[in-house]
Amino acid sequence: DHPRVAIVGRPNVGKSTLVNRLLGEERVIAFDQPGTTRDAIEVELDFGGKQYTLIDTAGIRKRGKVFEAVEKFSVVKTLQAIERANVVILVVDCVQDISEQDAHIAGYILEAGRALAVAVNKWDAVDEEKRKDVKRDLERKLQFLDFAEFCQISALKGTGIKPLLKAVDIAF
Ligand code: GDP
Ligand code: MG
Repeated sequence: DHPRVAIVGRPNVGKSTLVNRLLGEERVIAFDQPGTTRDAIEVELDFGGKQYTLIDTAGIRKRGKVFEAVEKFSVVKTLQAIERANVVILVVDCVQDISEQDAHIAGYILEAGRALAVAVNKWDAVDEEKRKDVKRDLERKLQFLDFAEFCQISALKGTGIKPLLKAVDIAF
């Protein structure tokens, strides 16, 4: 079996950018799950010679980029994706403070008992001084996720993606 990965997080943290980054870099076969709606799409991803299934919450679309003007947060969609996954990537935005909504989503993942990797995204946008604050903020507010690997990434620039998938492998 291989990792079935749900990418979850509050709006604007960079989920779609991360999905596009993953899909853009490697060959991808997208397919609609029979009997499911357009909103429940899974994508097969071959990354570094390993197979993953990405489970949509961010609006994965067939053969192309993720198109989304404004994303609305849906608890139901998030829970469904977590349910179908065996590993979850929780994406958080280090430009913004960690919010109650981030902690809630983390709580759903814990309740479902899923393996977890945390993607601390937009790392490119914070300077040395702010990076220390980010680490403190994460330690304080997401302390209950101390079993999980925290990976600093930039979905936009494409940094930290390999270590993130390695963390997924290890969690799986
Ligand atoms: P989503 O709502 O979680 O799907 O977030 P999006 O992928 O739509 O990204 C929201 C905004 O954050 C967009 O303007 C992205 O260009 C920006 N963004 C995403 N990832 C990064 C990143 O790694 N660094 C920076 N600086 N901006 C990012
Ligand atoms: Mg999105």
